[in-house]
Amino acid sequence: VSAPTDLDDLLAFSGWVRPAWQKDAACREHPELSWFIERGEDQRQQKRICASCLVREPCAAAGDGEFGLWGGLSERERKRLRSGTRQAA
Ligand code: SF4
Repeated sequence: VSAPTDLDDLLAFSGWVRPAWQKDAACREHPELSWFIERGEDQRQQKRICASCLVREPCAAAGDGEFGLWGGLSERERKRLRSGTRQAA
C-alpha cells in the first residue's frame, strides 16, 4: 500500500467519502482561495464564485453549524437564515 499523496487520497485512506454533490463544486476550480474565512476578511471573490455554483443548496445545508463560507453564505448569514426560518414556521 502506497502512502496517500494529496488531501483527497488522505481522506479516502481514512474512510471519508466525499458527498456526490461536491463533484460539481465551483470552489474546486479555485484551490488558490480559502473558503474558511475569518471575520473581517474580504470574501467578495469567493461569494462571486458561489453565486454561479450549481450546488449552492446542498452546500449551504452541509455547512449547517460549520465554520466558513458554505453555499455562498457566511456563518452569521446562515445563522440569521436559520433563525428566520424558525420564526416563519
Ligand atoms: S456554493 Fe459551496 S460548493 Fe459552491 S463554490 Fe460555494 S462553497 Fe463551493
